[in-house]
Amino acid sequence: MKGETLKQAEQLLHEYRLCDSCFGRLFRKEIKDGTNSQKGESIRKQLHRTDKTATHDCWLCEGLIDEIPHFTKIIADAVKDYEFETFLVGSKIDEDIQEKEQRLWKHLKLEDAEPIKMEINREIGKILEPQLGKTVDIPNPEIMAVIDTAYDIVSLQITSLFIYGRYKKLQRGIPQTKWPCQICRGKGCKKCNYTGKLYETTVEELVAQKALELTKGTEESFHGSGREDIDALMLGSGRPFVLEIKNPKIRNINLPLLEKETNKTTKNKVEITSLRFSTRDEIARIKAAEFRKTYRVTLEATQPLNKEKLIKVAQTLQGKLIKQLTPTRVAHRRANKIRERTIYNCTIETVEGIIARLTLETESGTYVKEFVSGDDNKTQPNLSELIGIPCKVKELDVIDVKGE
Ligand SMILES: [Zn+2]
Ligand SMILES: [Zn+2]
Repeated sequence: MKGETLKQAEQLLHEYRLCDSCFGRLFRKEIKDGTNSQKGESIRKQLHRTDKTATHDCWLCEGLIDEIPHFTKIIADAVKDYEFETFLVGSKIDEDIQEKEQRLWKHLKLEDAEPIKMEINREIGKILEPQLGKTVDIPNPEIMAVIDTAYDIVSLQITSLFIYGRYKKLQRGIPQTKWPCQICRGKGCKKCNYTGKLYETTVEELVAQKALELTKGTEESFHGSGREDIDALMLGSGRPFVLEIKNPKIRNINLPLLEKETNKTTKNKVEITSLRFSTRDEIARIKAAEFRKTYRVTLEATQPLNKEKLIKVAQTLQGKLIKQLTPTRVAHRRANKIRERTIYNCTIETVEGIIARLTLETESGTYVKEFVSGDDNKTQPNLSELIGIPCKVKELDVIDVKGE
């Protein structure tokens, strides 16, 4: 240590009673190896001072450093019901200790001293790592345990568990996500039969039920890559989703088993496939992804349809750009603007009288019902106009979503 710093250290011990940890922490940059306590002891010996201050007599920490094993025990106890591999310790320190610390730094003009909080967090982590067989992970811990040192209370922040998958919807009338009763807003009333829900079940609930059971999570959140209409089926390879399980106690669940168990209970309503563990980042990816959709459309016209005419019109639609003004049915919740979308492919399957069945491959975000009806000419060009007969969608199913 430089003579000047040594002098500063001597002056400091003269003015304050500091335990070796609190003393060493102030000069952590001056000595490379060892704990703060070892550093403090070494500087003290260089100064030929034998009067070691016990931590409970320390002006700064008032014995807090001695409580590290105690805090460690409290945290170990709090996390024992959780399955995890990585963790991080945080702490709340009495304000008066933190104020004293800041005063001391200012007085000594120290710019890079370590806060006591950091020492406590790190030392607890160092004890817990071998004891629990887990690893401290600063950017992405699965569990963050924060000990309030004044009250001996731990609060745990458990990182959500994310599961990617694809769902098929095999029954009409099921919305994708929870839809609270509009009258009571979810509290439960006569109108909704005290369920708080507008629909009996949702894709979200069906998909999440077993996952919540297996992970012992408290809540879930369902993130789909777009959504189909409530009355539309979702077929083909299914629609990508990420299921977020909040506060899971068990993380290493058997995904093939979850898939099997879920599909057993959601039979004929929803089916899930392709499950794998995911991350929060993937939610943004699948939300932003512009997957092409293939629809099976059953349309109903006001007069008998001519198959040849329909096929001719379908041919002109390959790669056609259409313009859609926000549909009347969603105008209350969407900005009123013109969206340009591409129809990639249109194939006429069957025509019988006023009913025709076709498959339609479109760009993500196309309003298919409006493309068929024209929506009072808000969509142009539209199918009704092109074939010269007003028609509307009778049934609409998503038969494929392209992309992972
Ligand atoms: Zn101290
Ligand atoms: Zn209600």
